[in-house]
Order: sequence, then structure tokens, then C-alpha cells
Amino acid sequence: MKIHEYQGKEIFRRYGLAVPRGIPAFSVDEAVRAAKSLPGPVWVVKAQIHAGGRGKGGGVKLARSLDEVRTLASQILGMQLVTHQTGAAGQNVRRLLIEDGADIRKELYVGMVVDRATQRVALMASSEGGMDIEEVAAKTPGKIHKVFVDPNAGLTDAQADDVARRIGIPEASLPQARAMLQGLYKVFDETDASLAEINPMILTGDGRVVALDAKLNFDGNALFRHPDIVAMRDLDEEDPAEIEASKFDLSYISLDGDIGCLVNGAGLAMATMDTIKLYGGEPANFLDVGGGATAEKVTEAFKIMLRNPNLKAILVNIFGGIMKCDTIAEGVVAASKAVGLAVPLVVRMKGTNEELGRRILAESGLPIITAANMAEAAEKVVAAAKGH
Ligand code: GDP
Ligand code: MN
Repeated sequence: MKIHEYQGKEIFRRYGLAVPRGIPAFSVDEAVRAAKSLPGPVWVVKAQIHAGGRGKGGGVKLARSLDEVRTLASQILGMQLVTHQTGAAGQNVRRLLIEDGADIRKELYVGMVVDRATQRVALMASSEGGMDIEEVAAKTPGKIHKVFVDPNAGLTDAQADDVARRIGIPEASLPQARAMLQGLYKVFDETDASLAEINPMILTGDGRVVALDAKLNFDGNALFRHPDIVAMRDLDEEDPAEIEASKFDLSYISLDGDIGCLVNGAGLAMATMDTIKLYGGEPANFLDVGGGATAEKVTEAFKIMLRNPNLKAILVNIFGGIMKCDTIAEGVVAASKAVGLAVPLVVRMKGTNEELGRRILAESGLPIITAANMAEAAEKVVAAAKGH
């Protein structure tokens, strides 16, 4: 789950990390009121969307008067902000963050993720802050320093200081950098984050270390432990199809292709997507209906897939274990009728009551294409999507 920058900074504040004073605003008047309660003479008006690259896209602007705050707030609020992370359509700006302007001497990068290979939290840091870190990684990988954190010891003073020196923190500011890095590790660990990023972490003219941006993503499987973080969820920033799917307990992720996939089990869903790609197709989604899919659940899953205007064909790939093939077949038939399915549908089922399931499909009178194995199913659905 993602949250906004201003919410990330609230969490940072709770953990004692240095962040600029700032107030979220949902309207232009609120933005001006927020600016009035800050000392000035420079304010920053920041678009709050769940995507990075806002600065380059025109969503982060400096204001030197309250009038300018008003002008910028009315420009940014409501704009379709396009960044390299939003896609061409951009994202509508519904919230702002009004902040104290900072006196930047240096922009640095700090990020944390879980490294699967070492099974540890990896701290990455670079002197090249403020810009796209993927670009730094591609062009000058030597400028990214990595440290792996021992979960028993936490991020040690020695590790923190070493990284801080490498990214150019002067000796006098080392204690502040150490507090920032160790604080960020504590945030990461205690909130069950999957990503924590400060880009830029700045060194100010007077030698302070401040988090100028805050990006936190959380592990969805741990959210039950963090009701305060769940309360920060902003549905306006999420894919409507994914929100709809979560209501019906379906694991659904939108993708860029044109072949809808309805599968039971995450592993089988991934294998199905791989097989579609192997045969030259592109999946339109990942969809795991889980072990206990009912006809209603399958119908909802169909409706969600059909919201996608790019959808050209659907592949249903079911392994009937706990879930029987005849149940799924009934669900597929009911769902196809309920939604008036107009795209080709390929079904492959294996397992318990397979024969019965196939008979239900055949006797339904619907133009369902059946396949005996995964390769055949993928081949047929790719052909169907291409109009063959
Ligand atoms: P992002 O582009 O979405 O990552 O948004 P950021 O919060 O990182 O802001 C982008 C850039 O705006 C930063 O890298 C800074 O260069 C600039 N910026 C943000 N806040 C301030 C500020 O208080 N003063 C100045 N001078 N620049 C700022
Ligand atoms: Mn940033």
C-alpha cells in the first residue's frame, strides 16, 4: 500500500526524523491559510499524488509571497500531473502540501528495500539525490552505496557513519545523518514497510540534515497490524479495478496487455501469464480467484476484467482440487450469460470432476473454446486475441 508524501512525513515526525514544517491542504483557501501559519518568506507548494517525478512534471513549485502561494495552489490543485510514473494520462491532483522553503546545499538519496538475495533490509545511498535514482543506477552505479542490515543489530553507528561519509556528509553533520538513517531503519522495520525512500535528503546551508521528500510503501500482508496506516489509504490514487476486486477478495492486478486471465492460485496465475507470453501474447491482468471461488465471485471477476477497454480475449485456467471443475464451469457459464460476454473465451480445466465440467461448458450453448492443456490454451487464446 502507498501513502502520500505528507503522510509519510507525519510518520517520520513521530520517529523524530527532521522534516520541514508543512501542512496538507485540500483547497486553495486551505493552502493560503496553511502558508500564513508558516513563517515564510519562501514556501513550497507540492502536489500530493502516489507517484514520483512531480518536480519535473511541474507539481512542485516555490512561492515567494502569499499571493504566489494562491496562484500556484490554484494551478496545481486539479491539474492532471504527468510524470514518468503516472503514464500519459497523468494523475489528478486533489491534495497539496504547503511547506517551509528549505535552503538546499546538497541533495542526497537514501532508500531502503528488502533484499531477497541476502534476506535483509538493504540501505542504498547516493550523493546524486533529487534525480531519478534508476538513472543513477544505470549510468553511474558506483555512486550508489549499499549496506545490508543485520536484523539483530539494526543499522549500527559505524554503518550509518560510513554511508553518510561516502555520500558527502561533512563530519560536523554526521550525528544528524546517523539519526536520520537509523530513524529511517526504525520506521521501515516497525511499520512493515516494503520501501522507504528519502529523495532528496538534503544538507542545508547551516549543516542540518533534513528529509525533503518521503516515500513509504507498506507490505499489504502486514497491514492488519497497522490500522493507523490503513486509515491513510487514498482510494482516489488506486486503480478502480483493483479496488473493486479487493471487495470480492480477488487478487487482481491490472497489466498492459489484452488477454484477461482468470486463474485459481497465485502460482498457477503466474505460470499462466508466462505461458501466454511464451506464445506471443500479453496478459491484461493477474487474477487469482482463490480456492473458494463461487459463481458470484467468478461473475464479479469477469465484470472486472471486462472493464478494461483493451481486453480482446479471456483465458480461464483452473486446477480443480478443493474447487471442483463443475463448480467453476457453472460459474463461467453463469458469468458469461450475466455479462453478455462478447470476447472469445478459452477454458482449460484439470482435476476433480473435469469431465463433468467440460460437459457443462459444451451443453451451455456458449461459444466457449476448450483446451486440454496449458500450451494449447495459451496458443488458442493468443490466436483469439489476434482475431484468428
Ligand atoms: P518528486 O519530484 O516527486 O520526487 O518531488 P520532491 O519532493 O523530491 O521535489 C522535487 C524537487 O523539488 C527536489 O529535488 C528539490 O530540488 C525541489 N524542492 C523541494 N522542496 C524544496 C525547497 O524547500 N526548496 C527548494 N529550493 N527546492 C525544493
Ligand atoms: Mn523526490
